[in-house]
Amino acid sequence: MNYAAVALNIPLNRSFDYAIPPHLTEAIQLGSLVLVPFGPSTQLGLVLETRPHTALQQTKAILELRDPKPMLTPIQLALGRWLSEAYLTPIGQALWTFLPPQLGVKRNAIQARMGRYAHLLLSAQDLEDGRWGKKQRRILEYLHACGGHAAAASVYEACNAALADLQRLEALGALTLDEREVIRDPLADKHYVPSREHRLNEAQAQALDAIRAALDAGGGTTFLLHGITGSGKTEVYLQAIAYVLAQERQALLLVPEIALTPQTVQRVASRFPQRVAVVHSGLSVGQRYDAWRRARDGVVRVVVGTRSALFTPLPQLGLIVIDEEHDHSYKHSPPFNPPYYHARVVAEQMARLAQAVLILGSATPSLEAMRRAEAGHFIRLSLPQRVFTRRPQDAPDSSASLPPVQVIDMRDELKAGNTSMFSRALHDALSETLARREQAIFFLNRRGQATYVFCRDCGKASFCPHCELPLTYHRQGEKLLCHICNYSQDPPNTCPSCQSARIRYFGAGTQQVEEELLRHFPQARLVRWDADTVHKADDHEAVLRRFLHHEADILVGTQMVAKGLDLPLVTLVGIVSADHALNLPDFRASERSFQTLTQVSGRAGRAALGGRVIMQTYQPSHPAIVYAAQHDYLGFYQAESQARRDLGYPPFRRLARLLIQHSHPTAAQREAEALAQALEPLLAQHRARRIGPAPCYHSKLENLYRWHVLVLCADPVALLRDSAPALSKAKHTTADIDPIDLL
Ligand code: ADP
Ligand code: ZN
Ligand code: ZN
Repeated sequence: MNYAAVALNIPLNRSFDYAIPPHLTEAIQLGSLVLVPFGPSTQLGLVLETRPHTALQQTKAILELRDPKPMLTPIQLALGRWLSEAYLTPIGQALWTFLPPQLGVKRNAIQARMGRYAHLLLSAQDLEDGRWGKKQRRILEYLHACGGHAAAASVYEACNAALADLQRLEALGALTLDEREVIRDPLADKHYVPSREHRLNEAQAQALDAIRAALDAGGGTTFLLHGITGSGKTEVYLQAIAYVLAQERQALLLVPEIALTPQTVQRVASRFPQRVAVVHSGLSVGQRYDAWRRARDGVVRVVVGTRSALFTPLPQLGLIVIDEEHDHSYKHSPPFNPPYYHARVVAEQMARLAQAVLILGSATPSLEAMRRAEAGHFIRLSLPQRVFTRRPQDAPDSSASLPPVQVIDMRDELKAGNTSMFSRALHDALSETLARREQAIFFLNRRGQATYVFCRDCGKASFCPHCELPLTYHRQGEKLLCHICNYSQDPPNTCPSCQSARIRYFGAGTQQVEEELLRHFPQARLVRWDADTVHKADDHEAVLRRFLHHEADILVGTQMVAKGLDLPLVTLVGIVSADHALNLPDFRASERSFQTLTQVSGRAGRAALGGRVIMQTYQPSHPAIVYAAQHDYLGFYQAESQARRDLGYPPFRRLARLLIQHSHPTAAQREAEALAQALEPLLAQHRARRIGPAPCYHSKLENLYRWHVLVLCADPVALLRDSAPALSKAKHTTADIDPIDLL
C-alpha cells in the first residue's frame, strides 16, 4: 500500500491522505499512530485505511511511526466511526477517546521507566524453616503475598528494608533481582486477601448459566440483571468474569465512581490477583498510560473503571459488565470534550462488534434499559431475594427480605407541634439504634442548590403550567422560574391548591442535619460524607473505613451514601427529606429519586441484625415515594413509563439538547433564539417538538451565561444533521444527544 488515510485530532469530520515512505510500508497498519506534516506544523494522526492510490495530485509523506503496535484494535476503529456518527463528532476527536491521555507531538509518552524488581525463588515451605532472620522472613513473606514478584521500592516501604537486605537474600539464593519496566499501578501497593467463590443460590446460578451459555454461543448478547440490593449481583459478575478468563478472554467491569465503590474494586482485585487494572480519571497520566498499555498487551485481563475505561484496548474482550447501569455518571456530558456518549449505549455496540457479552446490573434499571428489554433487545435476568434474609423461612417474597419502610408525613408533624427536622418516629428509632450500639445512616435527597417553594399544608410545590416541572426560586428579582420554557411568575402568598398561607422556601443541607443531630444526640459520634467534607479519592475510603470500623455511629450524607456499600452494622436508614430532588426541573427527577431512595433504603438490614427505614416527606403520595417505600420497582416502572409516554419524553422519543454558553448574556440569548428559528422549518418534517429557548437552571457557570434549546423526536441526530449549516454558525453551541444533564 502506498497511501494512508489519516485522522487528526481536529474539529473537521474528514481524514487526510499521506504517502507511506518505503521504509514504513511493512510497519504501518490500521490504527497506527503516526506523525504527519499538517499546514505549517506537525500533528499526530491515526491510520484509518491504507490504499494503493489517492485522488490527490500531491501528497505529503508520513514522517514517523510512533509505536510499532497499532494504538487501536480493528474493533475500536469501527466503534470510533460509529461514535462519530451517533454523536455528531468529528472522526479524529471520536478516535482520540481511545488513546491514553496527553499524547503529545513532542513528549513521547510511549516509553517506560525502568526500576529494580525482586523475584522470590522459594516455596511457601522453604519460608517456614528456621534459617531466616526476622527481617528476612518479613521480606520473603511479603514477596510471597505479592505472588512472588514486587518492585524493590515497595519492599523497602512495606518491610522497612534496604537494597543491602535484598542483595544478601539474593546471595543466599532466596530471590533474584533484576531491572524491568516500572509499572505505575495504583493497585500495586495495596494488598488484597485472596477471596474464594461463593456457592451460588438458585437465582444466581440460573443467571450465571444463561450468561455462560451466551459466552459459549459466541457473544453479541446483552443481559439486564435486575437484582434487588444485596441479592448477590456482584458475585454473579465475578463468576462470569472467571468464566471469561478461563476462555482466555478479557473482561471489563464499569462502576459509577471508583472512589465511591472501593468495596467493588477490592472484591475484584482479591478474586483475580495480579490480573486487574483500575482505570479512571483520578489516575496520573503515567498510571493511566501503563494500564492502557498492559491491557493492550494482554498482561491485564480485567479492567475495572469508570465510563472512560470503556475505551481501554482489550484485544480479547469477552465480557463487559456495567454495574448500577442506571447511574447518571455513565453519560459523558459537556463541559468535557466530545463525543457525549452514554457508556451503556456504546457498550452495547461494542459487545456486538467484539462478539462479547454485556451484563447491565441494577436494583433499579433505567427506563431506557427496561424498555429495550421489553422490546426484546436485552434478556432480563432477575435476582428477587437478598442473599442474607433475616428469617429466610418466613420470607417467601422479595419485599419480606428487604427492610420495612415507614413513610412519615411531615405535615402531620407540624400539626402536632414538632418543628424539628426529625419526626418523632425517626427520633425514637435513632435513640433505640444508638442504645443497641448499632449504626444509622441519615440521608438527604439533595442535588444542586435548588430552593423551591412549597406549601406546608398540602405539600404541593409551585409548578410550571407548560412543562409540569417545579419552578425554582430566584432571590434576585424575587421570581419563580421554569428552566425549560422560561415561564416566570411571582412567588405565591397563598397556596394555589389549598389557599394555605404557610408557604415554605426549602433548601436545607447536610450541615444543618449534622448540627441538629448533635443538638438532640450530643453523645453520638458523627461522620459527614458529602462534597464539602470529602475532596480527594482517598478521603472517601477513609470516611468509609471509619464508619465500617464502628468509629462512628451515624453517617450523614447525600447521594454518596446511597451507592453500593455493604455495611452490616447499619440497622437504621433515616431519609431526612425524600422529596427534595423530586422538585428539580428535570423530567427524570422522579425516576432518579425513586432510584436513590431504593438504593439508600437498601443500605439497611444487610446482615442478620435486620433493619428498618424511615422516610420523611411532604409528598407522601408521590409515586416515587410510594413505590420506593413498597420496594416495588415494577409498579414504579409502569407508572413512570405511562407518564413519559403521555408527555412524549424518553425512552419513547429521543431528546437532543443544544447548549449555548457565552460570556455575554444577550449574545447567549441571541444565539439560542437564532438556533431555535433555524430549527423551525425542520420540525414538521422530523415530527419533532422544540422546547425553549430558555436559560438553563444553572444560568451562569464559570462566567458563562447558559441557554438551551431542546428537541424531542424519533431521530434527533438526523434532524441536527439537516440543520448542520445553522449549527456550524452557532459557534458557542454544543449538541448533546440523549442528554442526561438538563440543568
Ligand atoms: P449486590 O451486588 O446485589 O448488592 P452483593 O454481591 O454485594 O449483592 O452480595 C451481598 C453480600 O452477600 C456480599 O457480602 C457477598 O459477598 C455475599 N454473597 C453474595 N452471594 C453469595 C452466596 N451465594 N453465598 C454467600 N454469600 C454471598
Ligand atoms: Zn397547599
Ligand atoms: Zn415551563
